[in-house]
Amino acid sequence: MGYACPRDGSALVSPEDSDRSTFSRLGVHHCDACSGMLLSADAALSTISQDRLHQMHESFEQDGGAEVDIDCPLCDSHMRVRKIVFTRLDGTEMDPIELDGCPTCASFWFDVGELQRVSPPENGGSNGGTEAKTLAIALEFLFHLPFAIL
Ligand SMILES: [Zn+2]
Ligand SMILES: [Zn+2]
Repeated sequence: MGYACPRDGSALVSPEDSDRSTFSRLGVHHCDACSGMLLSADAALSTISQDRLHQMHESFEQDGGAEVDIDCPLCDSHMRVRKIVFTRLDGTEMDPIELDGCPTCASFWFDVGELQRVSPPENGGSNGGTEAKTLAIALEFLFHLPFAIL
């Protein structure tokens, strides 16, 4: 069974069907239309340590953040939005990006615009396929960095 993009309703490409190794390795569903990425709790566990995942999920459960007008592609719950700040290896903080999270099933949705804001400019290529891959790599990299939920 496939999932639909919460932004534009396009069918999400499942990691198994993806020809891009980064997506398969991360277990990320992605949207070919808007380049958004869905990280399910299962996939997140392979990418993020369980402690970190729980920390992220709890911040959506407790005081919640603001409800956003998108439904979780996995379980149809209203997703919520929080700001998340990653700390670079040199100790400086990146600009906060918006992270949409599902308070029920602990999946996360990344809008491409948010990832573009924190992906390294030297990799900010212009052609579509490469860009999606670059952003997936940026996502993978981000999750090895310390973060704080605002
Ligand atoms: Zn989309
Ligand atoms: Zn959900």
